[in-house]
Amino acid sequence: MKIDDVKLYPVAVDRRYPTVTAGPRGYWEGVKRSYFLILKVFTHDGIVGLGEISDIGDKEFLKPSKVDMLRRILKRTLKGEDPFNIEKVVEALQRTPELIALLRDETNFRLVLCAVDNALYDLMGKSLGVPVYKLIGGEYRKRIRVAWVAYIRDPKFLVDEIQEKVKEGFEAFKLKVGLNIKQDEERLKVVREIAGEEAEIKIDAQGYWSIEEAIKNIKRLEKFNLIGVESPVSREDIEGMVKVRSSVDTPIIEHVNDISFGLKLIEKGAVDVFNVSTVGCGGIHQAKKVINLTEGTDLECLLGSTLELGVGTAGQAHLAASSKAVTLPSDLIGPLMYTDDVIKGRLSYENGCLVVPSGSGLGVTLDDERLERLAEG
Ligand SMILES: [Mg+2]
Repeated sequence: MKIDDVKLYPVAVDRRYPTVTAGPRGYWEGVKRSYFLILKVFTHDGIVGLGEISDIGDKEFLKPSKVDMLRRILKRTLKGEDPFNIEKVVEALQRTPELIALLRDETNFRLVLCAVDNALYDLMGKSLGVPVYKLIGGEYRKRIRVAWVAYIRDPKFLVDEIQEKVKEGFEAFKLKVGLNIKQDEERLKVVREIAGEEAEIKIDAQGYWSIEEAIKNIKRLEKFNLIGVESPVSREDIEGMVKVRSSVDTPIIEHVNDISFGLKLIEKGAVDVFNVSTVGCGGIHQAKKVINLTEGTDLECLLGSTLELGVGTAGQAHLAASSKAVTLPSDLIGPLMYTDDVIKGRLSYENGCLVVPSGSGLGVTLDDERLERLAEG
C-alpha cells in the first residue's frame, strides 16, 4: 500500500454556546465557531484515510492559498510512503522546513501531525479490516468515561446545562474556572448539588492563577471534594506546580504534549495526572509514547481535547480504548459541543461514556453532503 494523493476540505462549525475560559494571557472572549481542515489521504489501491486538523485558532492558516500550500507540502512528503511506516513519516514531516515555516508554531504543527497520523491509522485499519485500537494495544475497554466540560458562564445557564447532562447519564464534570473565585465557588456548588455526592468533579484554571492564588483558591474549593485541578499555574512554571502540589490535597493535572516535558514533570514530582491528547501530542502514535511514560510511576492519565469533530474524536477514542493508564474521566465532548459534524450519523455516547467505534480503521465515514454544507471559504 502506497500513498498517492492528499486533499484538504475547510469547514466551520458553530459551538452550542460561546465558550469562555481563563488563560495565562488573561481572559478569552467566547469562542462561537470553530474551523477545521478535513484531510483525505488516498492510496494507489483506492483506500481513503481520514484525518482532521481540529479547531484551528490561527485564521491566517485558513486562507485558500495557505491551505493549498499545506496540501502540496503534505502530498510531496507523503506520496509513495507506506502508511504503516508511521515512525518514518512523522520524522519526515518534522524535518520538512517548508511545513515548519508555514505552520509557524508548535501547536499548529502538532494539529497537522495529528491529522496525518489519524489518516495513516485509518488506512492501516481499513487495509487489514480491523479497528485502529487493535493495532495499538487492543481493546482494553469498549467505552471511555467522559467528563462533561462546563465553560465559564453565568451560573443561571449552568443549572440547565448540568441538569441536562445528568439526565443523559454523565457522572463526571470539569469546570473551567479562574476568572472570578466567588463565581467559581458558586458554580461548583451548583454542579455538586445537581450532580450529587458521587459525581467526579475536576476544575481547570488554564494556568491563570499565580502560585499564591492557586494555593488559596484550591484550598477554598476543596470542600467540594475535587478529583483534580488542571493547570493551576502556568505550565512553564514547573517549580510553581511543585509548590502548589505540596500545599494542597487535590491532585494536580497538567497537559503533557511531548516526552521531554513529561520526563521533567516526573523528575520534579510536579503533577499527579497527565492530560494527554492526540491533538496536543501530534497523533495517536506520539500520544501513546507520552502515556507510556507513566508506566512504572504512580501517575494516572486522562485524555484532553481541543474540541474535535467526529473524525478527531474517533482517533482519541481508539487511543483511550487501548491504553490501560487512562484511568480518569476524559474530556472528549467535541461532538456534543458542536451543532453539526462531518461524519455520517454521530459518535455515540451512553451513560456518560463515549462508545468506541467498532468499524475498520477509525470506524467513521465522511458525510459528503455535510462536508459541503459546512464548507468554509
Ligand atoms: Mg486544560
